Amino acid sequence: EVIVENVHKSFGSVEVLKGVSLTVERGEVIALIGRSGSGKSTLLRCINGLEKINSGRIEIAGHTVSNDPRQLRELRRDVGIVFQSYNLFPHLSVGENIMLAPKIVKNVARAQSRETAEKVLKLVGLSEKFDAYPDELSGGQQQRVAIARSLAMQPKVMLFDEVTSALDPELTEEVLNVMEQLARDGMTMILVTHEMAFARRVATKTIFMHQGKIWEEGASKALFSDPKTPELRQFVKADV
Ligand code: ATP
Ligand code: MG
Repeated sequence: EVIVENVHKSFGSVEVLKGVSLTVERGEVIALIGRSGSGKSTLLRCINGLEKINSGRIEIAGHTVSNDPRQLRELRRDVGIVFQSYNLFPHLSVGENIMLAPKIVKNVARAQSRETAEKVLKLVGLSEKFDAYPDELSGGQQQRVAIARSLAMQPKVMLFDEVTSALDPELTEEVLNVMEQLARDGMTMILVTHEMAFARRVATKTIFMHQGKIWEEGASKALFSDPKTPELRQFVKADV
């Protein structure tokens, strides 16, 4: 479902991704971990075409990432991305927030988009909030609405960039539960996370990035219990 081949990315003279390659099969859940500045967000942004790569090749959900705006639009129909900040439209209700993209991007009829919105809201456990406004919700609830909004586009792949790092522990738990449910339902996902226990439990594979490279990767449980490189050993130790 996702192929990243020898991707290089620089900002000015600084090379941030130094030849990254990975593949993600349909239904796989990949956790991206690593220190601040190791290039995790940049990689995620390159994967859905938010950043232009200098060399290499990226394919996702059957689309080759390119600079062609039309191709990018098609790619974004199939790839959802959720960030740490939820960016809900404050002047729109929860339901309207969720129905907006399907209407604009896919020209979905109102009755159908409403049905989908109700379905995805139920999925994230917020059925009763359809008519609420974002400022009436907790951070965790807003983040779950942001996830629901992405799901309403019926993506083939979901990308998550530290979606829980702005949340209190109990709100974090609510959001992680939603992501775990998605994983169980077979969604292909790549998630940047600092939640090591979650990565270990839910991700089929974990990738440790260090200085713009994939430093170490493997089945999550094995990777965490038996890190091979001193860098990962130190990183895992620092977390617990
Ligand atoms: P964090 O855990 O703090 O989110 P990260 O692993 O996601 O870190 P990135 O955000 O990918 O790291 O950043 C990798 C490097 O690229 C950093 O040194 C950062 O300063 C640099 N960088 C990221 N975005 C830009 C940009 N738009 N312009 C210039 N440099 C950038
Ligand atoms: Mg980041």
